Amino acid sequence: MTRFSVPDVHKCPACHGYVLWPNMKSFSTFGIETTWSDGASPMGGMLDQSTARACPKCRAVLWKKDLEVLGTLISAPRPIGNLTRKLAVWFGDKYGYLRAEDEWAAIPAAWKEAEHGDRLEYTDMQRALLFIREPDRDREMFLRRRIWWKTNDHIRRHPDGSPVTVEPVAPELERQANMLRMIELHELACSGYAERAELLRNLGLFEDAIRVLKSGASEIRSSSTAAWTLRWAKAGDADVRTFTNVPTVWSEVEEAMADGHAVPNYDRGVPQPKHV
Ligand SMILES: [Zn+2]
Repeated sequence: MTRFSVPDVHKCPACHGYVLWPNMKSFSTFGIETTWSDGASPMGGMLDQSTARACPKCRAVLWKKDLEVLGTLISAPRPIGNLTRKLAVWFGDKYGYLRAEDEWAAIPAAWKEAEHGDRLEYTDMQRALLFIREPDRDREMFLRRRIWWKTNDHIRRHPDGSPVTVEPVAPELERQANMLRMIELHELACSGYAERAELLRNLGLFEDAIRVLKSGASEIRSSSTAAWTLRWAKAGDADVRTFTNVPTVWSEVEEAMADGHAVPNYDRGVPQPKHV
């Protein structure tokens, strides 16, 4: 079960408006474990809200870690009738009705009108990239990865072959520039081989993707998805695919391809990537 705490109250550094932001106390996937080949997950948006949200007033991207907690916004107490109030006074507020009213009255009125931070939209993240303090590659990558996922939606295929969205959320040149910058960030950090290969595949740069996948990097061999990236890159397929917990079968795929055989049949009790 996914549960949230009473929301913290923060002040947006850009517009100085109050923003509510609960902390996630527990998280459940509700049994949904499907992921996409680019790493996006149906539950990702909910998890991301623990890290960053957009100010509901000015759309500035807010990072939870950066914000001071001014207090918490408890729920408004239920109204009580005159008789209950008199009884509470006579019997020492045994059930805390009057204390709850006092606590609520002590909260600044502006906090009670504050709204919750929103999920990040494409334009919020693009704008936020302009305000990233250099060098902050972690935050840049956080934003760019989510931009990548959003701009992939028109090539993201449901199991029945239909795209998640028909229209791209961004011009193709913007999408490509974002992906190329992600590859550059990975190259600078000498990491992210599996993700780099998927980015290259999504860009249609299949030979480059195959070269990364065959680099022998330990990260590739331990990846649960790289074998499938190789398979799709070899097939000249740039679309984002979905699968459910496919185990690493790298050696099987690699050996079969080297021998010129068909890719092994994964139907024997192993979840299959869902193809168009
Ligand atoms: Zn704001």
